[in-house]
Amino acid sequence: MPELRRLLNALHDGGLSWRAIAALPEFEPLRAATPAAHVTLQRIARGHVPRADAIRDALGLPRLVMVQACPECGSVHLHAHGERVYDPSAQRVVRRRPRRYRDLFSMPVGELRWMVENRVEM
Ligand SMILES: [Zn+2]
Repeated sequence: MPELRRLLNALHDGGLSWRAIAALPEFEPLRAATPAAHVTLQRIARGHVPRADAIRDALGLPRLVMVQACPECGSVHLHAHGERVYDPSAQRVVRRRPRRYRDLFSMPVGELRWMVENRVEM
């Protein structure tokens, strides 16, 4: 994305109009995807991030997906919350974060039994 933006700005600074840039053979797929390819390219050059799959495909950009934020901490985890992962600094497998549950009913039975048996406070 930053490379594409740099390329577009370089072409435009070099004296090409947005229509001339959109007419380059590299942007044929984009012209097929949208009648306003020159506008799309100009917007990208100014920092716009295209979201439509058709536009991203035509530009060779990876598609964007919606990701649900973690209901517990609000950030996005690439691993499930509480999943065990290798921690290079600790040089051992650790649980990313202690698992927390909204209430007892959303807790797996096995874990609930373990907590009761071990008298763990929630
Ligand atoms: Zn989280």
